[in-house]
Amino acid sequence: MTTTRPRTWLITGVSSGFGRALAQAALDRGDRVWGTVRSEADADAFRALAPDLARAPILDVTDEAATHRVAAAVEADSGGMGGGGIDILVNNAGYGLVGGVEETSLADARAQFEVNVFGALAMMQAVLPYMRGRRAGHIVNITSVSGLVGWPSLGLYSGSKFALEGITETLAQEVAPLGIKVTMVEPGGFRTDFAGRSRKRSEADTDRPDLAADYDATVGECKRILASHAGQERGDPARAARAILKAVDAETPPLRLLLGEDAVGYATMKLTGQLADIEAWRAVSVDTDFQA
Ligand code: NAP
Repeated sequence: MTTTRPRTWLITGVSSGFGRALAQAALDRGDRVWGTVRSEADADAFRALAPDLARAPILDVTDEAATHRVAAAVEADSGGMGGGGIDILVNNAGYGLVGGVEETSLADARAQFEVNVFGALAMMQAVLPYMRGRRAGHIVNITSVSGLVGWPSLGLYSGSKFALEGITETLAQEVAPLGIKVTMVEPGGFRTDFAGRSRKRSEADTDRPDLAADYDATVGECKRILASHAGQERGDPARAARAILKAVDAETPPLRLLLGEDAVGYATMKLTGQLADIEAWRAVSVDTDFQA
């Protein structure tokens, strides 16, 4: 069953990619969208999509105070546009750090978590008081299939998405009794700006000669694969946006929504392998309890 009442969205990172495609799909059906951007030029471009329905607050999600200011402003302003506060928060803003685990500096690792984990956490903490007050709302966190499966060269990105998945899965249980829904969206490879300007090589990742040989078959090979796939990803962000709308409209939205055939394949492989490990080691695992 779907609902068609115009709704109010707050989506982080609408300058391109998933954020832009989802915002466009919501605007196309008459919803109001506050889409965060980081420059005046991007704000102008976003508002121009639908001047009556689109608003573009400037926000870097690592600025905690600003996440609270933006949430309060949307709550206050949406009333004037016929809305009753934020119906759907989408934590989309993020980037991917590329680098082997050993070669990545802690500074780069922390910066990755600041955006992908703590930025989303701050945004949720800013919006939840309003949603709790109304006993309604939906939080959608764009994680990744990398939040389920690790690949060489993406360890810190993966770590950030695993962390966001753990926080989100827990939050879903905490807020379900309060009428708030929570969904994780787990895309595979999609043709956005992610593999271009949103993919950062770790500062220490200069193919250090002392590491290059030892890690060539794993980290090096995966870096080459990532580079060769850039711009060729099978996933279409516009189709992803339609899938996310379906999930948001559903009476019982999924806790997790995989996007892309690759994501479904990798997730299935991961879970099948994990179940096999559980079975293979079951006797050892359960033998650790006190023997009464
Ligand atoms: P994208 O086109 O590069 O979009 C990334 C967006 O995040 C941009 O709007 C960017 O804003 C914003 N952003 C980055 N850091 C920010 C910060 N500190 N504060 C506020 N906004 C920030 O890439 P995308 O693929 O759509 O990425 C969106 C989400 O999808 C990310 O969370 C990513 O991890 C996830 N994802 C992508 C893929 C994929 O294959 N594309 C797969 C799985 C998951 P600026 O324009 O100002 O930089």
